[in-house]
Amino acid sequence: MDLTDRTEHLAFRQEVRQFLDKHKATAPEETAHSFRLSPRPYTDTVKAWQKLLVKNGYAGRTVPKAYGGYGAEPDILKNRIIADEFFAADIPQGLYSQGISMLVPTLLEHGTEEQKKTWIGPTIRGDVMWCQGYSEPNSGSDLASLQTSAIEDGDDFLINGSKIWTSSAHITPMIFCLVRTEPDASKYQGISYLIFPMDTPGIDVRPLQTMTGHPSFNEVFFTDVRVPKNAVVGGRGNGWKVANSTLKHERGMLSNANGSLERLNKISTLLKKEMLDGRPLWENKNLTDRFVSLQARVQAMRFHEMRLLTRTKDGKAPGLGDMICKLLGCELNHQLDALAIDALGEIGVLYDGIPSAKEDGIWQQWYMYDLGLIIGGGTAQIQKNIIAERGLDMPREPRHQKGS
Ligand SMILES: Cc1cc2nc3c(=O)[nH]c(=O)nc-3n(C[C@H](O)[C@H](O)[C@H](O)COP(=O)(O)OP(=O)(O)OC[C@H]3O[C@@H](n4cnc5c(N)ncnc54)[C@H](O)[C@@H]3O)c2cc1C
Repeated sequence: MDLTDRTEHLAFRQEVRQFLDKHKATAPEETAHSFRLSPRPYTDTVKAWQKLLVKNGYAGRTVPKAYGGYGAEPDILKNRIIADEFFAADIPQGLYSQGISMLVPTLLEHGTEEQKKTWIGPTIRGDVMWCQGYSEPNSGSDLASLQTSAIEDGDDFLINGSKIWTSSAHITPMIFCLVRTEPDASKYQGISYLIFPMDTPGIDVRPLQTMTGHPSFNEVFFTDVRVPKNAVVGGRGNGWKVANSTLKHERGMLSNANGSLERLNKISTLLKKEMLDGRPLWENKNLTDRFVSLQARVQAMRFHEMRLLTRTKDGKAPGLGDMICKLLGCELNHQLDALAIDALGEIGVLYDGIPSAKEDGIWQQWYMYDLGLIIGGGTAQIQKNIIAERGLDMPREPRHQKGS
C-alpha cells in the first residue's frame, strides 16, 4: 500500500497538527490507559477533552450525527493520520473502553433506533460507562455454555445467575450482558444480549482484587433482576451473533502497534538514562539484544497492521488478521514490560506506593495488567486454536461431546 499522502490527505494532516497545536494545553495528563489500569469514573478534564475530540471529528468520527457522533465518511487513511499525529505529539487521542470501543459499534450494527439514540452519544462523550457481563464461573473460553437465565415475565425478563471477571462493574452505571432466554434451544441459539442499568434491584457487585493491587474486575450476582424486553439488542435468541460482533471489536481494542511502539520508545529512553557500573544500560549487550529483537517484532506488527489496512481499503474483510494482532500484540506488550523491569534491576521489583519505585512503578503495573490482557477477550490458546483451524486449515481439535 502506498502511504504517501495525496493532496487531500496532506491538507488533512495539517488540519490535525493545527488542532493539536491549538488545544494541546487542555489535553489531560491521564490517558485512557491509566483509567484501564485503575478503573474509576472519568474526571471532568478527561470528559471535556473527549467532548472536544468528538466535536472536531477525532473521536466518534464515523458515528452518525443523529447519534451524537461527527458523521464523517469512513476513510481509513484519515484514521491512520489522526492516530499517528496524536501519537507523534504525545497527546492522548481519546477514550477507549468497553462502552466506546465495543458496545457502540455493536449498537450501530445491531441496535434499535431507540437504543442508538439513547446510548451512543452519552457513551462516546464519556458520560456513561459500561461493563461487559459475558464470563461466568463455569463459562469462560466456552462462553456459549453460559447459564445465567432470563425468564419471560409479562413485559419483562427476570434474570438469575452470576457473572465473573466483570471489569469495572463496581463503577459503571450500565451493563451489556449475555443471558439464556430460550432454555430449550440449542447452545448457540438460546442466548440474548441485554443492556440495563447496574442499579436495577437484585444486582450485587463484589469487587475482586487482582494482582495489580487494584479492584479492576468483579463478581456480579443477579437475583430476580427485572429488565424490560426492549432491552434486547439484535433480537431475542440472536445474542451469540451480537456477542461475536462485540468480541471482534474487543480484540481490536486490546492491542495496537502504536501503543507497542510507544512502550519501545520509553524503554529506549530508560536504557539510555539508567546506569550500571558507570555505563549506560544501552551498552549492556544482553539488554540491547532483547531490545533489538522486540523492536523487530514491533515493526512486524506495524507492517501487519498496514497489510490489514490495505485489505480494508480494497473492501476485503480482515480475516483472522485481527486475531493475530490480539494474540501477538498482547504478548509483545508483556515482553516489553518485562524488559523494562529487568532493566530497572532491583528497583524493578518495587511496587505501588513505594517512594523509590521509578516512574511511579508504572512498568510493574503494566507487567501485571498486560498479563491479564493475554487472557481477557479470549485466551492466547483459544486464539491459536482459531487461527490454526480457520486460518491455516489445520485439523480441528477434539470437541467435548454432550453426555460423554
Ligand atoms: C484482565 C481481564 C479482564 C476481563 N474482563 C472481563 C469482562 O469485563 N467481562 C467478561 O465477561 N469477562 C472478562 N474476563 C474474562 C475472560 O474473558 C476469561 O478469563 C477468558 O475468556 C478465559 O476464561 P476462563 O478464565 O474461564 O478460563 P478457562 O476457559 O477455564 O481456561 C483455563 C485455561 O485453559 C485453556 N483452555 C480452555 N479451553 C481450551 C481449549 N479448547 N484449547 C486449549 N486451551 C484451552 C485456556 O487458554 C486457559 O489457559 C476478563 C479476564 C481478564 C484476565
